[in-house]
Amino acid sequence: MKQIPPVDLTRQHELIEQELATAVLAVLKSGRYIGGTAVTDFEQQFANYIGVSECVGCNSGTDALYLALRALNIGQGDEVITTSFTFIATAEVITRVGAKPVFIDINPDTFNLDLNLIEAAITERTKAIIPVHLFGQPIDMTRLMAIADRHNLYVIEDCAQAIGAEWHNHKVGSIGYIGCFSFFPTKNLGACGDAGALTTNDQNIAVQVRLLREHGLERKSDQKISYRHLVTGLNSRLDALQATILQIKLRYLEQWNQQRTEAAQYYQQILQPLPALKLPKTLLEGKSVWNQYTIRIPDLFNQSELTRDLIRSQLGQMGVISMVYYPLPLHLQPVYQSLGYQKGQLPVCEQAAQEVLSLPLFPGIETEEQQQVAYCLKDCLSFLPNH
Ligand SMILES: *Cc1c(COP(=O)(O)O)cnc(C)c1O
Repeated sequence: MKQIPPVDLTRQHELIEQELATAVLAVLKSGRYIGGTAVTDFEQQFANYIGVSECVGCNSGTDALYLALRALNIGQGDEVITTSFTFIATAEVITRVGAKPVFIDINPDTFNLDLNLIEAAITERTKAIIPVHLFGQPIDMTRLMAIADRHNLYVIEDCAQAIGAEWHNHKVGSIGYIGCFSFFPTKNLGACGDAGALTTNDQNIAVQVRLLREHGLERKSDQKISYRHLVTGLNSRLDALQATILQIKLRYLEQWNQQRTEAAQYYQQILQPLPALKLPKTLLEGKSVWNQYTIRIPDLFNQSELTRDLIRSQLGQMGVISMVYYPLPLHLQPVYQSLGYQKGQLPVCEQAAQEVLSLPLFPGIETEEQQQVAYCLKDCLSFLPNH
């Protein structure tokens, strides 16, 4: 039986191989590998796509989040509210600027921040909220912005998994104060290496981020380097090769997001007859871009091995490779032990961590492969009692 991977980037690449090869070769021949029009053109195109006036490229999604916090002067003594059910980078940057992450629980249906819990977590030290549009699905930005405005807090959207997702016909990354994007290869718009970007409508923020991403270096024009350094920055540039690749792939993004959506809809249809599985739910006012298709498998036995893990390993033996995003919520991570969170404190995300399973989904996945995934799941479930 053919193995079905969780994601296969080679299929996307085959389609645009010639286009990429020609463009990459041109960059190689140009002798200009950092900065230049490849980067500024991409920044302009991505700003247009998201629907904002400013885009600043940087080295990764993690750096985008870090640069956002730095540009807003968030640091020592400040608190930032975020979700415990996300990739570590979302919280790591809060710690890295010297601020304190305040973790709150999630909505069990969307896996995004539970909006009912935000206000109780706000203190006089709270400066910002970082919502994550997890698995490609936007959080209710109408309610979130209302809460943030009421308490005068910045909203930094972590859009790493939601490139092209929309809330009320506005792209995520254009609704909060700053949007942070990752172009890690497996994101919906992926580079061939590390890359990231920030989006905003505040020109001052863009100026500040440009300064920070290049050692705090004052730049009068692109040609003249002053060697005057105004603030402590870092080296977090987007390079010309990645920017060139991203420009090409951006033209295919809508098409690829559409393919992901169709594949997700097909899963909803063919997995419907398996009542032991809880399928993903979407909000009507939002448009998800399905970076992941994540189901829940509730635990049946209350023994040492979770039902989810049992099924995951059986699927693996049948050639269906699934993933667990994320097995341990951030408030229980060893690195955050000193924050003093206890097991049981954020029960909804702790339960999600035990039940979630992300099935293979990527542009170019074949109908037969999805049918195979459904068939194997059905087979695994048939061994469980009462199903
Ligand atoms: C991928 C990801 C990041 C980090 O992006 P990198 O480019 O890998 O640094 C941040 N937040 C979330 C939710 C992510 O999925």
